[in-house]
Amino acid sequence: MLLAAIAIVAVVVILIRTGAGAAPDASAEAVTHSVDEAQAARRLAESIRMRTISPGVVGFDPEHMLAFRDWLARSYPLLHSRATRTLVGEYSLLFELPGEDLSLKPALLAAHFDVVPVVPGTEGDWEQPPYSGAQVDGFVWGRGAIDDKGSLVAIMEAVESQLAAGYTPPRTLYFAFGHDEEIGGADGAMQMAAKLAADGVELAWVLDEGGVIGIDVLAGVSTPIATVGIAEKGSVSLEIVASAAGGHSSMPPRDSAIAVLAGAISTVNNAPVPAAVDGVTANFLDAIAPILPFSQRLAVRNRWLLEGVLIDQLSKAPAANAMLRTTTAPTMINAGVKENVLPSTARAVVNFRVHPRDTPDSIERYVSNRIASDRVSVAKLDEGREASVVSPVDGEAYALIEQTINRVFPEVVVAPYLVVGGTDARHYDSLTDNVYRFIPVPMDDSDRARFHGTNERIAVSDLVRAVIFYQDLLLNL
Ligand SMILES: [Zn+2]
Repeated sequence: MLLAAIAIVAVVVILIRTGAGAAPDASAEAVTHSVDEAQAARRLAESIRMRTISPGVVGFDPEHMLAFRDWLARSYPLLHSRATRTLVGEYSLLFELPGEDLSLKPALLAAHFDVVPVVPGTEGDWEQPPYSGAQVDGFVWGRGAIDDKGSLVAIMEAVESQLAAGYTPPRTLYFAFGHDEEIGGADGAMQMAAKLAADGVELAWVLDEGGVIGIDVLAGVSTPIATVGIAEKGSVSLEIVASAAGGHSSMPPRDSAIAVLAGAISTVNNAPVPAAVDGVTANFLDAIAPILPFSQRLAVRNRWLLEGVLIDQLSKAPAANAMLRTTTAPTMINAGVKENVLPSTARAVVNFRVHPRDTPDSIERYVSNRIASDRVSVAKLDEGREASVVSPVDGEAYALIEQTINRVFPEVVVAPYLVVGGTDARHYDSLTDNVYRFIPVPMDDSDRARFHGTNERIAVSDLVRAVIFYQDLLLNL
């Protein structure tokens, strides 16, 4: 009887907590500002024609970096006359546009203009040549259209048109455009942040790339989700070396180095780093709960009871799994030089993307403890990279970004999110608690395959909405 009563109470609690789902009001009027559509598209096309491949990468040509700098100055003369421009790390561009109230902390908009190269041999797979900036079928085509010249051009179109209309930002604005984001940002964003720190600048917030407006991200959910990155994962690679007696393969010992290594990798692979629904992941699930189907909403809103089930379910999808835990990816292996000789050592490298609750050191300890063999050594390949600081979702800066998204894209739900790759944004961690990662561009699965891949492009209508987003952001600083 008592058990039955408890069960009924539990069901009532579960149902109350599950509540109703309220999708965003897609019929709400989107805020709009006037945008010169043809000019924005033309400028993006021009920017794509300069092959600004990151330094040190095959295809890098300093002439294209310099051409980009000159082109930017020609295209956006008002910003160049009103702001101070500092060259950092040879090619990166840091603009300071003074605001009305110098007592307010400045804000910083970041983007990068280096691009990844087109994989040799795939040029012919592009429907439009990769550096053509061709405008066909309502799209601007080419490497960088999304990542990240689209965002850079949208920011510049927004600020230049506002300046033309007599705008002065209420607070000082920095525009930090990096030239080496795709190779880690050590000479660009890292040095721009160092310069600002040396000048004693404290920022109100930073907005860089990272999340997007995801279309069809979750099965059964049609509402687009604007994912605002509030943190990014770190990375560490562990070198795992197995040792055993060498010798001839005709009378092998029971365990060769290769067999021992295979066992160790299998152990690591079968013992994923523990997951939890907490921090950023909990924030994300809470934000999207209203648009989830009933059964999923029930699990999300009753984590006190169903966290284990939720983790099991989410772990099956690689993208969700990557938000829940530090991921494990064996990426290199080598041993042996001849088919009849036993190698005395066998080596593998396993790459871990470090969740904010873990550190490179804690991952090294975890893996060493799992393998626990005196024939296997585990060591970090290098220092690795800690996950970034996690920025708050209850402050003014996040609210500004969220409200701007809601005004310009009333049909979407905004959710904080953990960026699983690296961006320039982390380099600004020491200048403010509020570092956010989002570009206002809708992307579905096919778009996600295009960037860093073949046929990268952006719809002109999406570029226009991105300009409107940045205009609205500027007006609501
Ligand atoms: Zn990028």
